[in-house]
Amino acid sequence: MKQIAGISIVALATILLGCQNIEKEQTRHLVLIAGEASHQTGEHEHRAGVLLMERCLSGLPGLEVSMYFDGWPEDDAVFDTADAVHLFMDGGGGHPIIQEDRLALIQRHIDRGMSLGAMHYAVEVPKDDGGEQFMDWIGGHYETYYSVNPFWTPDFSNLPNHPILRGVEPFSVRDEWYFSIRFREDQVGVTPLLVDTPSDEVRDGPYVWPHGPYDHIVENKGKSEIVSWAVERKDGGRGYGFTGGHFHENWGDENFRKFLFNSLVWLTGLDVPENGVRCIVTEEDLMENLDE
Ligand SMILES: [Zn+2]
Repeated sequence: MKQIAGISIVALATILLGCQNIEKEQTRHLVLIAGEASHQTGEHEHRAGVLLMERCLSGLPGLEVSMYFDGWPEDDAVFDTADAVHLFMDGGGGHPIIQEDRLALIQRHIDRGMSLGAMHYAVEVPKDDGGEQFMDWIGGHYETYYSVNPFWTPDFSNLPNHPILRGVEPFSVRDEWYFSIRFREDQVGVTPLLVDTPSDEVRDGPYVWPHGPYDHIVENKGKSEIVSWAVERKDGGRGYGFTGGHFHENWGDENFRKFLFNSLVWLTGLDVPENGVRCIVTEEDLMENLDE
């Protein structure tokens, strides 16, 4: 057998082919889906938020980013090549993912290891229509009358050691941070990422809707709450929930946005950069693409 510098041709071919495979495997496809416009300008800015995510992530090596607007892609085929899908849209009974046969569609892709993330209202599905799936796919969901949605300003000063926190410094941002999320039983497999203890005033309400207060929320005064989390599923896919995102201006906070960009990279299975995803977002940037 011919030898090149002591390596057989067969061995060399194996190494080269191996490299090609690694390169191919390292290109990941992230699908960002923005819901329809729903709130006043500056709130639930799904489209502007997704455009910002795409701008900040599209240059990362090995990452291919696609965007879809107004609720849901028309062609189911976009999911065929998706390594991760991220939902930023209004949820509840009108959640695009529970319309038509989309839960079954997503289940098929979850079964091949596709990752799924959901942000703000998109973490809310009815408990008997998508609740079970969200529990399995991303670890939990917002459940009306069990979860709450007050505006408050947590202090994320105690950050865990997780790739999503790379380069993220402690931060504090006022948002409609939902909590008392309905997690899997005993929170099995759920890794808390952002945690803080709401004040007694926050628990006493009023919440945005329904106003509350609820006994089980008030009784838990002093207890910490998880407002963002991650799961790694047995099928190899990953899941992620982030309950903030009401105000578009919060993308102006460097750590808030780095946390979100990191989470999207992590969802795809790519390595989060050592110091996290850096992307400048100016005051002017925050005024772009807003809903009327
Ligand atoms: Zn909101």
